[in-house]
Amino acid sequence: MRIGLYGGTFDPIHNGHIHVIEQLISRKIVDHLLVLPAGQPLLRDIQPRATGAQRRTMCQLAIDALPAEIRAHVEVNPIEVLREGPSYAIDTVEAVAQNYEGETIVLVVGTDAYEKIDQWHRADELKKLVEFVVIDRPGFPGKHNTSVDAIAVSATDIRAHISDAVPAAVAAFIKEHNLYASN
Ligand code: ATP
Repeated sequence: MRIGLYGGTFDPIHNGHIHVIEQLISRKIVDHLLVLPAGQPLLRDIQPRATGAQRRTMCQLAIDALPAEIRAHVEVNPIEVLREGPSYAIDTVEAVAQNYEGETIVLVVGTDAYEKIDQWHRADELKKLVEFVVIDRPGFPGKHNTSVDAIAVSATDIRAHISDAVPAAVAAFIKEHNLYASN
């Protein structure tokens, strides 16, 4: 089994993320996918606008709206949100790996994240533990061979009201909680 880990701030989760998730499952790039909203960073970092609990809920709403055959292979995992503070990828990988002994762990990252991989905590160990699937994001540097294409949406654009490319249930949640009201 190939277990995919797709981490991010997901502030909010948007159609670009959903597009990636659907391809990972429908093309059987992974058999099972964990969507991992990040914990709230420490005070000095740029803070997400939504809380960890809200970002987790938005991920769940988005996953619940997926077609059943995709949804059956995807879960939102709250390990990083519950941990509080930022998580190192290697800590998450080690925790997840305990539940999936002997399976292949696949880290799904955009080119923007992958470009900085060597700065990640315990990067050499991490590279030995996982396989990477790198998604080429339009407008972001770096070229990688990947079978997963991407659409040009960013959470930054959603928060700035430049784009509204989020699943309907997520849009309703954002509105109900007045999440990205003013910039
Ligand atoms: P922000 O605009 O706030 O930086 P973001 O849109 O980049 O947010 P993240 O939550 O940081 O979203 O993304 C989580 C992961 O998804 C990262 O690996 C990122 O590279 C990837 N990703 C984000 N948007 C897209 C997209 N449109 N297509 C493919 N991958 C994406």
